[in-house]
Amino acid sequence: MIIVLKPHTDDRDLEEVLRRIEEAGLRPHVSRGQFQTIVGAIGDETKMDPERFRGLPAVASVTRIMKPYKLASRDFHEADTVVDVCGRKLGGRSLAVIAGPCSVESRDQLMETARVASRAGAAFLRGGAYKPRTSPYAFQGLGTEGLEYLREAREEFGLPVVTELLDPRDIDAVVAVADVIQIGARNTQNFRLLTEVGQTRKPVLLKRGASLTVAELLMAAEYVMSEGNHQVILCERGVRSFDPSVRNMLDLSAVPNIRAASHLPVVVDPSHATGRRDMVPPLALAAVAAGADGVMVEVHPHPEDALTDGPQSLHPEEFEDLMARLVPLAELMGREVSRAEAADV
Ligand code: PEP
Ligand code: MN
Repeated sequence: MIIVLKPHTDDRDLEEVLRRIEEAGLRPHVSRGQFQTIVGAIGDETKMDPERFRGLPAVASVTRIMKPYKLASRDFHEADTVVDVCGRKLGGRSLAVIAGPCSVESRDQLMETARVASRAGAAFLRGGAYKPRTSPYAFQGLGTEGLEYLREAREEFGLPVVTELLDPRDIDAVVAVADVIQIGARNTQNFRLLTEVGQTRKPVLLKRGASLTVAELLMAAEYVMSEGNHQVILCERGVRSFDPSVRNMLDLSAVPNIRAASHLPVVVDPSHATGRRDMVPPLALAAVAAGADGVMVEVHPHPEDALTDGPQSLHPEEFEDLMARLVPLAELMGREVSRAEAADV
């Protein structure tokens, strides 16, 4: 960390800065210029809070040298993390497709979607039993009944399950069924929830909040990892934009951006990014071309009857068509596509 003092500061100001650096267990290095003094703090910067310095009247600026996240950073862990869920891998050379309805609506709806997903070669089944809805009057999900259907579909089709946890009070019920716990975009900075899932040993799919920077997303991952759970999958699902013709704006630059900064696998969700079925296949393919480790898409047997996110859900034949194009593209990109039959659920 580099702390620049304002011109004409006296020794007492400098001493206070040095004291606070030493208090944090770091070593100060003072460089005195003709007008200004610059102090370097040498040691593990993650232990030092820049706010301890910014408030001092003699301090002009505080600049971090290291990234504020450590466990999530590629600087400290060079090789790609590969998250292995029942033999389905995400990260490194492996790519996986996660498919399923937005919400679990009924036993029949989920079983039918799981059949489509497994037949077309998806590696995971997704579906929300607890739904984060903007309106309290909208369908909130089937809760424990939905989890029960997910358990059945998992057993019948051998597809590991990705499902969202909204509230720490439901953690035991969700952990009992989920192979991957999803943290939705509205909860990326729900720090208590992140701490709770960090204390489990289930892989976590952490979605990027609609207005979060990549650094903030990686800090959220750091919350989970600092509790000892290092199996974190990051998910880009679009950010807020000015254009109402799409639900969000897919930030595909986040894929190489995150992959440069972090070793964690990155998945792209073009369904929530666009809200438009017609845009899902081209952007799913673009995500693979951009280097994503996985793609998550919503599929529904009858999207016109869906209780949530029908307009962005693919029809079964559209999903099959997407998979037929995605697999050869992924192979061209040097990826091995995790598939249903390779699983050991
Ligand atoms: C979802 O994937 O079910 C969902 C609600 O997405 P997001 O949190 O990205 O809006
Ligand atoms: Mn949805």
